[in-house]
Amino acid sequence: MVHINSTSQGGGVAEMLHSLIPLMNDAGIAAEWKVLHGCDDFFAITKKFHNALQSEHVDLPSESINHYLETNKQFSSHLSIDHDFVVVHDPQPLPLIRFFDKAQPWIWRCHVDLSTPDIGVWAILEEFVTRYDHMIISHPAYRRETLTMDQMIFHPAIDPLSEKNRDLPAGVIADTLASFGIATDKPLITQISRFDKWKDPEGVIDIFLRVRQEVDCRLVLCGSMAPDDPEGWEIHQRVVEKAGDLVKTGDVIMITCENSMLVNVLQRVSDVIIQKSLREGFGLTVTEALWKERPVVASRVGGIPLQITDGETGFLVDPDDTEGFADRILQILRDPALGRQLGKNAKEHVREHFLITRLVSEYLDLMTRENGNGNPSPA
Ligand code: UDP
Repeated sequence: MVHINSTSQGGGVAEMLHSLIPLMNDAGIAAEWKVLHGCDDFFAITKKFHNALQSEHVDLPSESINHYLETNKQFSSHLSIDHDFVVVHDPQPLPLIRFFDKAQPWIWRCHVDLSTPDIGVWAILEEFVTRYDHMIISHPAYRRETLTMDQMIFHPAIDPLSEKNRDLPAGVIADTLASFGIATDKPLITQISRFDKWKDPEGVIDIFLRVRQEVDCRLVLCGSMAPDDPEGWEIHQRVVEKAGDLVKTGDVIMITCENSMLVNVLQRVSDVIIQKSLREGFGLTVTEALWKERPVVASRVGGIPLQITDGETGFLVDPDDTEGFADRILQILRDPALGRQLGKNAKEHVREHFLITRLVSEYLDLMTRENGNGNPSPA
Protein backbone atom coordinates (compact mmCIF):
# COMPACT_ATOMS: atom_id res chain seq x y z
CA MET A 1 0.00 0.00 0.00
CA VAL A 2 1.07 3.58 -0.41
CA HIS A 3 0.16 6.58 1.72
CA ILE A 4 0.49 10.03 0.18
CA ASN A 5 0.43 13.31 2.08
CA SER A 6 2.18 16.66 1.87
CA THR A 7 4.60 16.85 4.80
CA SER A 8 6.93 14.45 6.54
CA GLN A 9 6.95 16.47 9.75
CA GLY A 10 4.63 18.74 11.69
CA GLY A 11 1.03 17.90 12.44
CA GLY A 12 -0.92 14.80 13.25
CA VAL A 13 -0.89 13.10 9.84
CA ALA A 14 2.89 12.89 9.67
CA GLU A 15 2.93 11.83 13.31
CA MET A 16 0.70 8.84 12.61
CA LEU A 17 2.40 7.83 9.37
CA HIS A 18 5.80 7.68 11.10
CA SER A 19 4.44 4.83 13.24
CA LEU A 20 1.83 3.34 10.91
CA ILE A 21 4.21 2.63 8.00
CA PRO A 22 6.74 0.53 9.97
CA LEU A 23 3.95 -1.27 11.82
CA MET A 24 2.18 -2.13 8.55
CA ASN A 25 5.49 -3.48 7.23
CA ASP A 26 5.93 -5.53 10.40
CA ALA A 27 2.44 -6.89 9.83
CA GLY A 28 3.49 -8.13 6.38
CA ILE A 29 2.16 -5.30 4.19
CA ALA A 30 4.71 -3.58 1.97
CA ALA A 31 3.70 -0.06 2.99
CA GLU A 32 5.29 3.06 1.53
CA TRP A 33 4.88 6.77 2.21
CA LYS A 34 5.23 9.45 -0.46
CA VAL A 35 5.27 13.17 0.22
CA LEU A 36 3.93 15.61 -2.37
CA HIS A 37 6.30 18.49 -3.05
CA GLY A 38 4.96 21.95 -3.75
CA CYS A 39 6.13 25.54 -3.79
CA ASP A 40 5.08 28.20 -1.26
CA ASP A 41 2.24 29.37 -3.52
CA PHE A 42 0.86 25.86 -3.67
CA PHE A 43 0.79 25.54 0.11
CA ALA A 44 -0.77 29.00 0.45
CA ILE A 45 -3.59 27.76 -1.80
CA THR A 46 -4.01 24.43 -0.02
CA LYS A 47 -4.06 26.18 3.35
CA LYS A 48 -7.04 28.12 2.00
CA PHE A 49 -8.70 24.81 1.15
CA HIS A 50 -7.98 23.64 4.67
CA ASN A 51 -9.48 26.81 6.15
CA ALA A 52 -12.50 26.59 3.86
CA LEU A 53 -13.16 22.96 4.79
CA GLN A 54 -13.17 24.05 8.42
CA SER A 55 -15.89 26.65 7.67
CA GLU A 56 -14.11 29.84 6.60
CA HIS A 57 -15.52 31.56 3.52
CA VAL A 58 -12.81 31.56 0.88
CA ASP A 59 -12.82 32.81 -2.72
CA LEU A 60 -10.37 30.96 -4.89
CA PRO A 61 -9.59 32.43 -8.31
CA SER A 62 -9.33 29.98 -11.20
CA GLU A 63 -5.53 30.53 -11.38
CA SER A 64 -5.28 29.09 -7.87
CA ILE A 65 -7.24 26.00 -8.85
CA ASN A 66 -5.05 25.61 -11.94
CA HIS A 67 -1.91 25.89 -9.83
CA TYR A 68 -3.30 23.29 -7.43
CA LEU A 69 -3.98 20.90 -10.31
CA GLU A 70 -0.70 21.60 -12.09
CA THR A 71 1.34 20.83 -8.95
CA ASN A 72 -0.49 17.56 -8.52
CA LYS A 73 -0.02 16.75 -12.20
CA GLN A 74 3.70 17.39 -12.00
CA PHE A 75 4.01 15.32 -8.86
CA SER A 76 2.11 12.47 -10.53
CA SER A 77 4.70 12.35 -13.30
CA HIS A 78 7.36 11.46 -10.70
CA LEU A 79 5.17 8.97 -8.91
CA SER A 80 4.86 5.36 -9.93
CA ILE A 81 1.81 3.70 -8.47
CA ASP A 82 1.74 -0.07 -8.82
CA HIS A 83 0.45 -0.68 -5.31
CA ASP A 84 -2.68 -2.65 -4.44
CA PHE A 85 -4.07 0.10 -2.27
CA VAL A 86 -3.66 3.90 -2.29
CA VAL A 87 -4.44 6.19 0.66
CA VAL A 88 -4.35 9.92 0.00
CA HIS A 89 -4.38 12.21 3.02
CA ASP A 90 -6.11 15.59 3.13
CA PRO A 91 -6.75 18.11 0.33
CA GLN A 92 -3.20 18.78 -0.86
CA PRO A 93 -2.74 15.59 -2.93
CA LEU A 94 -6.48 14.94 -3.43
CA PRO A 95 -6.52 15.61 -7.24
CA LEU A 96 -3.70 13.12 -7.88
CA ILE A 97 -6.32 10.53 -8.70
CA ARG A 98 -7.14 12.46 -11.86
CA PHE A 99 -3.71 11.77 -13.27
CA PHE A 100 -3.64 7.98 -12.92
CA ASP A 101 -5.43 5.11 -14.59
CA LYS A 102 -7.00 3.80 -11.46
CA ALA A 103 -6.16 0.11 -11.12
CA GLN A 104 -6.70 -0.37 -7.39
CA PRO A 105 -8.82 0.99 -4.55
CA TRP A 106 -8.11 4.65 -3.77
CA ILE A 107 -9.08 5.98 -0.37
CA TRP A 108 -9.27 9.65 0.59
CA ARG A 109 -8.41 10.04 4.25
CA CYS A 110 -9.63 13.46 5.34
CA HIS A 111 -8.36 14.54 8.76
CA VAL A 112 -10.10 17.90 9.08
CA ASP A 113 -13.50 18.83 10.44
CA LEU A 114 -15.81 18.63 7.41
CA SER A 115 -19.03 19.41 9.25
CA THR A 116 -19.55 22.94 7.89
CA PRO A 117 -17.32 23.52 4.87
CA ASP A 118 -17.48 26.53 2.58
CA ILE A 119 -19.92 25.18 0.02
CA GLY A 120 -18.15 26.65 -3.03
CA VAL A 121 -14.80 25.18 -2.10
CA TRP A 122 -16.34 21.84 -1.17
CA ALA A 123 -17.96 21.72 -4.64
CA ILE A 124 -14.51 22.08 -6.22
CA LEU A 125 -13.01 19.32 -4.08
CA GLU A 126 -16.02 17.04 -4.33
CA GLU A 127 -15.31 16.55 -8.02
CA PHE A 128 -12.10 14.74 -7.00
CA VAL A 129 -13.48 13.06 -3.90
CA THR A 130 -16.16 11.24 -5.91
CA ARG A 131 -13.45 9.49 -7.95
CA TYR A 132 -12.31 7.66 -4.83
CA ASP A 133 -13.67 4.31 -3.62
CA HIS A 134 -13.95 5.35 0.01
CA MET A 135 -13.51 8.30 2.26
CA ILE A 136 -12.19 7.91 5.79
CA ILE A 137 -13.10 10.58 8.33
CA SER A 138 -12.50 11.00 12.07
CA HIS A 139 -16.04 11.69 13.31
CA PRO A 140 -19.59 10.79 12.20
CA ALA A 141 -20.44 14.51 12.07
CA TYR A 142 -17.99 14.95 9.18
CA ARG A 143 -20.04 12.77 6.80
CA ARG A 144 -21.07 14.61 3.62
CA GLU A 145 -24.65 13.88 2.63
CA THR A 146 -24.03 14.53 -1.05
CA LEU A 147 -21.51 11.69 -1.35
CA THR A 148 -22.81 8.25 -2.26
CA MET A 149 -19.54 6.48 -1.51
CA ASP A 150 -18.73 4.60 1.66
CA GLN A 151 -17.65 7.06 4.38
CA MET A 152 -15.81 5.21 7.15
CA ILE A 153 -14.84 6.45 10.57
CA PHE A 154 -11.28 5.72 11.68
CA HIS A 155 -10.31 7.55 14.83
CA PRO A 156 -6.72 8.72 14.80
CA ALA A 157 -4.37 7.07 17.27
CA ILE A 158 -1.05 7.40 19.02
CA ASP A 159 1.97 5.12 19.24
CA PRO A 160 2.65 4.56 22.95
CA LEU A 161 6.20 3.41 22.22
CA SER A 162 7.30 6.34 20.06
CA GLU A 163 9.75 8.93 21.31
CA LYS A 164 6.82 11.26 21.83
CA ASN A 165 4.84 8.94 24.04
CA ARG A 166 7.11 6.42 25.74
CA ASP A 167 7.85 6.65 29.45
CA LEU A 168 10.88 8.77 30.26
CA PRO A 169 13.42 8.54 33.08
CA ALA A 170 13.44 11.53 35.43
CA GLY A 171 16.99 12.43 34.33
CA VAL A 172 15.94 12.77 30.68
CA ILE A 173 13.02 14.96 31.69
CA ALA A 174 15.25 17.23 33.78
CA ASP A 175 17.93 17.47 31.06
CA THR A 176 15.39 18.29 28.36
CA LEU A 177 13.76 21.00 30.45
CA ALA A 178 17.17 22.49 31.23
CA SER A 179 18.28 22.49 27.62
CA PHE A 180 15.17 24.44 26.61
CA GLY A 181 15.42 26.78 29.60
CA ILE A 182 12.05 25.75 31.01
CA ALA A 183 11.94 26.23 34.77
CA THR A 184 9.38 24.39 36.88
CA ASP A 185 9.41 26.77 39.84
CA LYS A 186 5.84 27.81 38.99
CA PRO A 187 2.86 25.78 37.81
CA LEU A 188 3.14 25.10 34.10
CA ILE A 189 0.30 25.40 31.61
CA THR A 190 1.04 24.16 28.10
CA GLN A 191 -0.57 24.12 24.68
CA ILE A 192 1.19 22.02 22.07
CA SER A 193 -0.04 23.01 18.63
CA ARG A 194 1.04 24.46 15.34
CA PHE A 195 0.65 28.26 15.25
CA ASP A 196 -2.64 28.07 13.40
CA LYS A 197 -5.70 30.25 13.82
CA TRP A 198 -7.86 27.16 14.46
CA LYS A 199 -5.70 26.32 17.49
CA ASP A 200 -6.31 29.87 18.77
CA PRO A 201 -2.97 30.57 20.49
CA GLU A 202 -4.05 34.20 20.94
CA GLY A 203 -7.05 32.96 22.92
CA VAL A 204 -4.66 30.92 25.05
CA ILE A 205 -2.87 34.14 26.03
CA ASP A 206 -6.20 35.65 27.12
CA ILE A 207 -6.87 32.63 29.32
CA PHE A 208 -3.35 32.70 30.74
CA LEU A 209 -3.66 36.39 31.65
CA ARG A 210 -6.90 35.63 33.45
CA VAL A 211 -5.43 32.63 35.35
CA ARG A 212 -2.37 34.66 36.37
CA GLN A 213 -4.56 37.19 38.10
CA GLU A 214 -5.09 34.47 40.71
CA VAL A 215 -2.18 32.03 40.53
CA ASP A 216 1.35 32.87 39.45
CA CYS A 217 2.18 30.42 36.69
CA ARG A 218 4.02 29.96 33.43
CA LEU A 219 2.73 29.24 29.91
CA VAL A 220 4.47 27.23 27.22
CA LEU A 221 3.23 27.46 23.64
CA CYS A 222 5.02 24.77 21.68
CA GLY A 223 4.32 24.83 17.96
CA SER A 224 6.69 23.51 15.37
CA MET A 225 6.35 24.95 11.88
CA ALA A 226 4.99 22.48 9.33
CA PRO A 227 6.28 23.09 5.78
CA ASP A 228 2.76 22.74 4.38
CA ASP A 229 1.38 25.42 6.74
CA PRO A 230 2.44 28.85 5.47
CA GLU A 231 0.49 30.89 8.05
CA GLY A 232 2.53 29.76 11.05
CA TRP A 233 5.03 32.61 11.37
CA GLU A 234 2.36 35.29 10.92
CA ILE A 235 0.25 33.82 13.73
CA HIS A 236 3.37 33.35 15.86
CA GLN A 237 4.18 37.04 15.48
CA ARG A 238 0.68 38.04 16.54
CA VAL A 239 1.00 35.90 19.67
CA VAL A 240 4.40 37.39 20.53
CA GLU A 241 2.90 40.88 20.27
CA LYS A 242 -0.07 39.93 22.39
CA ALA A 243 2.07 38.29 25.10
CA GLY A 244 4.28 41.42 25.19
CA ASP A 245 6.63 41.56 28.18
CA LEU A 246 5.63 38.11 29.38
CA VAL A 247 7.85 36.62 26.66
CA LYS A 248 10.79 38.75 27.86
CA THR A 249 10.28 37.74 31.49
CA GLY A 250 10.07 34.06 30.54
CA ASP A 251 6.53 33.66 31.84
CA VAL A 252 5.37 32.89 28.32
CA ILE A 253 7.76 30.54 26.54
CA MET A 254 7.28 30.09 22.81
CA ILE A 255 8.94 27.20 21.04
CA THR A 256 8.92 26.64 17.28
CA CYS A 257 11.29 23.73 16.77
CA GLU A 258 10.19 20.16 16.12
CA ASN A 259 11.29 17.98 19.00
CA SER A 260 9.31 14.90 19.99
CA MET A 261 11.23 14.41 23.21
CA LEU A 262 10.42 17.95 24.29
CA VAL A 263 6.73 17.42 23.51
CA ASN A 264 6.81 14.23 25.54
CA VAL A 265 8.47 16.04 28.45
CA LEU A 266 6.06 18.98 28.35
CA GLN A 267 3.09 16.64 28.28
CA ARG A 268 4.47 14.92 31.38
CA VAL A 269 5.48 17.87 33.52
CA SER A 270 2.74 20.40 32.83
CA ASP A 271 0.21 20.93 35.57
CA VAL A 272 -2.50 21.52 32.99
CA ILE A 273 -2.56 20.90 29.25
CA ILE A 274 -4.83 23.21 27.34
CA GLN A 275 -6.23 22.75 23.83
CA LYS A 276 -8.14 25.88 22.95
CA SER A 277 -9.03 24.88 19.39
CA LEU A 278 -11.83 26.58 17.49
CA ARG A 279 -11.99 23.59 15.11
CA GLU A 280 -10.22 20.30 15.63
CA GLY A 281 -10.51 17.29 13.32
CA PHE A 282 -9.47 15.03 16.18
CA GLY A 283 -6.61 16.52 18.19
CA LEU A 284 -3.76 14.05 18.72
CA THR A 285 -2.18 16.50 21.16
CA VAL A 286 -5.11 15.80 23.45
CA THR A 287 -4.70 12.02 23.08
CA GLU A 288 -0.99 12.29 23.82
CA ALA A 289 -1.55 14.31 26.98
CA LEU A 290 -4.36 12.03 28.19
CA TRP A 291 -2.08 9.02 27.70
CA LYS A 292 0.42 10.67 30.03
CA GLU A 293 -2.27 11.05 32.69
CA ARG A 294 -2.30 14.82 32.46
CA PRO A 295 -5.39 16.87 33.20
CA VAL A 296 -6.54 18.47 29.96
CA VAL A 297 -8.85 21.47 29.58
CA ALA A 298 -9.99 21.60 25.97
CA SER A 299 -12.60 23.05 23.66
CA ARG A 300 -15.82 21.19 23.09
CA VAL A 301 -15.25 21.00 19.32
CA GLY A 302 -14.69 18.40 16.61
CA GLY A 303 -12.97 15.23 17.74
CA ILE A 304 -12.09 16.42 21.24
CA PRO A 305 -15.33 15.25 22.93
CA LEU A 306 -14.62 11.74 21.57
CA GLN A 307 -11.62 11.78 23.86
CA ILE A 308 -12.74 13.80 26.85
CA THR A 309 -15.83 13.12 28.89
CA ASP A 310 -16.34 16.34 30.79
CA GLY A 311 -15.41 15.99 34.43
CA GLU A 312 -14.25 12.37 34.00
CA THR A 313 -11.28 12.29 31.66
CA GLY A 314 -10.65 16.05 31.55
CA PHE A 315 -12.70 19.22 31.18
CA LEU A 316 -14.56 20.50 28.13
CA VAL A 317 -15.28 24.19 27.68
CA ASP A 318 -16.98 26.12 24.88
CA PRO A 319 -14.24 27.52 22.67
CA ASP A 320 -15.16 31.19 23.17
CA ASP A 321 -15.53 30.91 26.95
CA THR A 322 -12.29 32.43 28.30
CA GLU A 323 -13.67 32.59 31.84
CA GLY A 324 -14.74 28.95 31.68
CA PHE A 325 -11.25 27.86 30.60
CA ALA A 326 -9.63 29.94 33.33
CA ASP A 327 -12.00 28.55 35.99
CA ARG A 328 -11.27 24.93 35.07
CA ILE A 329 -7.51 25.53 34.96
CA LEU A 330 -7.63 27.22 38.37
CA GLN A 331 -9.73 24.39 39.76
CA ILE A 332 -7.03 21.88 38.74
CA LEU A 333 -4.15 24.07 39.94
CA ARG A 334 -5.83 24.37 43.33
CA ASP A 335 -6.75 20.69 43.60
CA PRO A 336 -3.90 18.50 42.29
CA ALA A 337 -5.73 15.34 43.44
CA LEU A 338 -8.52 16.18 41.00
CA GLY A 339 -5.96 16.55 38.21
CA ARG A 340 -4.44 13.16 39.05
CA GLN A 341 -7.83 11.43 39.03
CA LEU A 342 -8.81 12.94 35.67
CA GLY A 343 -5.45 11.85 34.28
CA LYS A 344 -5.85 8.25 35.48
CA ASN A 345 -9.31 7.92 33.97
CA ALA A 346 -8.04 9.46 30.74
CA LYS A 347 -5.21 7.01 30.24
CA GLU A 348 -7.58 4.05 30.36
CA HIS A 349 -9.87 5.68 27.81
CA VAL A 350 -6.93 6.15 25.43
CA ARG A 351 -5.69 2.60 26.02
CA GLU A 352 -9.08 1.25 25.06
CA HIS A 353 -9.78 3.41 22.02
CA PHE A 354 -6.90 5.40 20.61
CA LEU A 355 -3.75 3.29 20.34
CA ILE A 356 -2.15 2.75 16.94
CA THR A 357 -2.56 -1.03 16.95
CA ARG A 358 -6.30 -0.43 16.53
CA LEU A 359 -5.63 1.80 13.52
CA VAL A 360 -3.36 -0.81 11.93
CA SER A 361 -6.06 -3.45 12.26
CA GLU A 362 -8.68 -1.10 10.77
CA TYR A 363 -6.50 -0.65 7.67
CA LEU A 364 -5.85 -4.39 7.50
CA ASP A 365 -9.60 -5.09 7.71
CA LEU A 366 -10.27 -2.57 4.98
CA MET A 367 -7.63 -4.11 2.71
CA THR A 368 -9.04 -7.57 3.32
CA ARG A 369 -12.54 -6.39 2.47
CA GLU A 370 -11.34 -4.70 -0.69
CA ASN A 371 -9.66 -7.89 -1.85
CA GLY A 372 -7.04 -5.84 -3.64
CA ASN A 373 -9.02 -5.61 -6.87
CA GLY A 374 -10.39 -2.09 -6.84
CA ASN A 375 -13.95 -3.28 -6.16
CA PRO A 376 -15.66 -2.87 -2.84
CA SER A 377 -16.57 -6.35 -1.66
CA PRO A 378 -20.26 -7.18 -1.13
CA ALA A 379 -21.63 -6.09 2.23
N1 UDP B 1 3.42 18.53 17.41
C1 UDP B 1 4.79 18.44 17.64
N2 UDP B 1 5.45 19.57 17.95
C2 UDP B 1 4.83 20.74 18.07
C3 UDP B 1 3.44 20.84 17.83
C4 UDP B 1 2.75 19.68 17.50
O1 UDP B 1 5.39 17.36 17.54
O2 UDP B 1 5.50 21.72 18.37
C5 UDP B 1 2.70 17.27 17.10
C6 UDP B 1 1.78 16.87 18.24
O3 UDP B 1 2.52 16.25 19.27
C7 UDP B 1 0.81 15.94 17.50
C8 UDP B 1 0.71 16.60 16.14
O4 UDP B 1 1.88 17.41 15.98
O5 UDP B 1 1.37 14.65 17.39
C9 UDP B 1 -0.49 17.49 16.03
O6 UDP B 1 -1.62 16.70 15.78
P1 UDP B 1 -3.08 17.24 16.02
O7 UDP B 1 -4.00 16.18 15.58
O8 UDP B 1 -3.22 17.69 17.43
O9 UDP B 1 -3.22 18.56 15.14
P2 UDP B 1 -2.85 18.94 13.62
O10 UDP B 1 -1.56 19.70 13.71
O11 UDP B 1 -2.73 17.67 12.84
O12 UDP B 1 -3.98 19.82 13.20
